[in-house]
Amino acid sequence: MCPALKSPPKMTLGLTEACPLQCRYCYSDCGSEPKPGELDIAEWKRFIDEVVDDGVIQFYIEGGEPLLKPGLLDLLAYCARDAMTMLRSHGTLIDGAMADALKKTGLGRIFIDLMGATAETHDGCAGVPGSFEAACNGISHCVAHGIPVDMLVILTRQIVPELNALLQLAAALGADRVGVLRLYPLGRAKKLWPEIALSLDEQMAAIRSLRPPPGLAVMQSWHPMDKNCCWQAAAVDAFGRAIGCMYLREYVDFGSIGTSRYLDIWRGHPLYRNLRSGRVERGCPDCSASQGTRGGCRSTAFAFHGRWTAPDPFDETLNDGIDLLALPERILRS
Ligand code: SF4
Ligand code: SF4
Repeated sequence: MCPALKSPPKMTLGLTEACPLQCRYCYSDCGSEPKPGELDIAEWKRFIDEVVDDGVIQFYIEGGEPLLKPGLLDLLAYCARDAMTMLRSHGTLIDGAMADALKKTGLGRIFIDLMGATAETHDGCAGVPGSFEAACNGISHCVAHGIPVDMLVILTRQIVPELNALLQLAAALGADRVGVLRLYPLGRAKKLWPEIALSLDEQMAAIRSLRPPPGLAVMQSWHPMDKNCCWQAAAVDAFGRAIGCMYLREYVDFGSIGTSRYLDIWRGHPLYRNLRSGRVERGCPDCSASQGTRGGCRSTAFAFHGRWTAPDPFDETLNDGIDLLALPERILRS
């Protein structure tokens, strides 16, 4: 069982589904313009007041591309009065002046996505020539202004041959950590799945091949490095839907923050309570008791099994012969 938190300690805000890039596997299916119904900054500030009162001490802000959101800098500074703030971006809009402005908001850390270690691979995925160079420059500007940087890398078939080059690149640019993340069947990624997804064996081989240079930390979202985090997860999408985690965005809708206090949703929604409880059919036999793996990620468990309590097939010990290259029809149609 998981600790039963009375209120969420951390909150992810997906501010917008607008982005200047056109990534082939964008989870949000972003376009260049905001979508109808996205909350404005005044609405986000009211929400931030509410959840800080209810105990939130960390905000993780993402998009789309959050730097496209009018009023973002103001919002970051607003969050940073009471909480650790972190931002996820593709980095191409960060020049020296923007890095300076971000630093002045009190931003604690930035996460910048790269989709390849070369312009050819990255720009080929992002769909915008020059985005690799701009993202690398964005990392350098953040580092130069004293903002700690994580480089994020989503593990696709196309990126595997460049993984170690990405680690070298991260170190050369001054990032202090790289997050190697599993690919989720969401948005445009599920439509491209046969082309970009890897089998579990291929994923594990890629993870084991990682050779980070000295001083560079690597975080990866496979067991046992990464455990189930539903127990403390809280997130709101661009339209004000409480969804628990951005990786659940297509599978749940716990209610609107426009009509309910997040804390009431947290305490009252039965599925949300269940996901946080850590009740699963099976955990990893070697370490579920000691390390609290709680069956792995609930998003991928649900995607492949259709049951919230199912084992996570991205986990070597819990995979049960599930072919990760074959997405269920139910997910493809959703
Ligand atoms: S940078 Fe991120 S938000 Fe923008 S299109 Fe690519 S995946 Fe989507
Ligand atoms: S769905 Fe997965 S990534 Fe999201 S909070 Fe739950 S375990 Fe963590």
